[in-house]
Amino acid sequence: MNPNDLSHFKTLLLAEKESVTKCLQHQKAEIDDTNSEVLEPLTDSEEKLLEKIELALLKIENASYGVCVNCSREISRDRLEAKPSVSLCLSCQSEHESS
Ligand SMILES: [Zn+2]
Repeated sequence: MNPNDLSHFKTLLLAEKESVTKCLQHQKAEIDDTNSEVLEPLTDSEEKLLEKIELALLKIENASYGVCVNCSREISRDRLEAKPSVSLCLSCQSEHESS
């Protein structure tokens, strides 16, 4: 992936990170308001997504972004455009989901 593409995806990831972070803060504020301790599962998926975004940003820094973590093949550009934090190629993802 060339430096222009990397910076393009970095921009997408940073924007996604910001919106997820805001969403998490909002949810946490609501949890504080209601003083409830049982609302944790609500934030679970966002926290996982945030981890994925952080990981993808790290990969951009060390130039390993856009490569499937399972089979080391390149992830298609369309797939990255649709979901920049994705770390599996399409075939590994479908294997993962069907198992
Ligand atoms: Zn793969």
